[in-house]
Amino acid sequence: MARKYSSKINKIRTFALSLIFIGFIIMYLGIFFRENMWVMTIFMMLGMLSIVASTVVYFWIGMLSTKAVQVVCPSCEKPTKVLGRVDMCMHCNEPLTLDKDLEGKEFDENYNRRNVKS
Ligand SMILES: [Zn+2]
Repeated sequence: MARKYSSKINKIRTFALSLIFIGFIIMYLGIFFRENMWVMTIFMMLGMLSIVASTVVYFWIGMLSTKAVQVVCPSCEKPTKVLGRVDMCMHCNEPLTLDKDLEGKEFDENYNRRNVKS
């Protein structure tokens, strides 16, 4: 069974976007508890926290992007960013590596972990 991989930056971006949606859903649920001031306030606070968290995550993506190495994907010839030793192309999901030793090897996210002998 082949696992589906996607670029790390894309993954984090999806996570940040879902946090915004979760925040709005939580705030929307809070409206159903209008009669109970406290419950509604708690829902609103949780919703706000979730949206604030997503802003933080977006900021973090910005920081990561500046550290990521920009390369041109050999497969689709579009510029993409590589985070860590191995990452996927943002456009076509082609596995990319910055490490010559890993070139031609099967893509494995474990290569990004330390203490893994390749
Ligand atoms: Zn590509």
